[in-house]
Amino acid sequence: MRLFAFAGMTNENACVTTSNGVAIVKALRFQKPDTELADVPLPSPTDKEVLVRVRQAGVCATDLEIVRGYAAFEGTLGHEFVGIVESGPAELKDKRVVGEINCVCGKCDMCTSGLSNHCRRRTVLGIVDRDGAFAEYLTLPARNCHIVPDSVSDDAAVFVEPLAAAIQVTQQVPIEPRMQVAVVGTGRLGLLVAQVLSKRQCSLTAVGRNPNTMRFLDRKGIRTSTLDDVKSREAFDVVVECTGSPEGLPIALSLVRPRGTIVMKTTCQADHSADLTALVVNEITMLGSRCGPFGEALSVLARRDVDVSEMITSRMKLADGVAAMEKAAQPEQIKVLIEIGD
Ligand SMILES: [Zn+2]
Ligand SMILES: [Zn+2]
Repeated sequence: MRLFAFAGMTNENACVTTSNGVAIVKALRFQKPDTELADVPLPSPTDKEVLVRVRQAGVCATDLEIVRGYAAFEGTLGHEFVGIVESGPAELKDKRVVGEINCVCGKCDMCTSGLSNHCRRRTVLGIVDRDGAFAEYLTLPARNCHIVPDSVSDDAAVFVEPLAAAIQVTQQVPIEPRMQVAVVGTGRLGLLVAQVLSKRQCSLTAVGRNPNTMRFLDRKGIRTSTLDDVKSREAFDVVVECTGSPEGLPIALSLVRPRGTIVMKTTCQADHSADLTALVVNEITMLGSRCGPFGEALSVLARRDVDVSEMITSRMKLADGVAAMEKAAQPEQIKVLIEIGD
């Protein structure tokens, strides 16, 4: 083996080549039941894809669920990232980008009806049949990339994907002034959803039990409450469920008013076992909500409408990726960043 600089590489992370000339890079991979740092071949993009040198990635609840068996995924973990395009079309080359995670066929009934996030043949970065972002390099369709404006730091850019998912709530349910809205769960996603909704002049309550994350919201002037202290049961027009746990749905059902709306954000490995009688009797509308608009998330970050910097509680190197995943599972942590390269 010898060290060499792969053509076009600009950082110090020179790849190792094997005797047959394949460049080898590092990636944090989940192979049931283990997560480990592995040597993998440098991914090679198709003609419609870009090769991205990842600079930073964020650990999210979905990554933690995957290693518990959610999505039956094996491969390189991670889907929240910012990086530099090393090869691809001229308009993206050398640009700092974030990337939408759904890689779609463009031909199926969902794609042709404008619902390509629901593409029936999609792969999803680090979640479904596509290696993810906890790696020195990733590939993604060029059309998935969004150039990050200079006013948005790498730290902020890592939050584009989850922030877009938070904004998606407001695209699915019109949030009007004076509406009573509850966000249940004050984890990584709940903090983003609460901050997004706090700009909508609604009467917002974040319901949680983690004193660290509730203090974060208190500092932003967002009302917080423990579940025991929520005075008004069955009183909220809209309840956004972000607990990441099957316990969230029964809580949401206890808070929403008759004819109200529950937005479900949780994907988790365990089954929901809520009694849905209240859903029928109270004529509740229940919506699932997943990925959202990257362009709008970038604008929100550029305007500093949502603060993400205080959500970063740890920074780890890719070499310590296993420890980063373990750390992200600790309740005192909010966002753990994995720094890659340089
Ligand atoms: Zn995520
Ligand atoms: Zn499709």
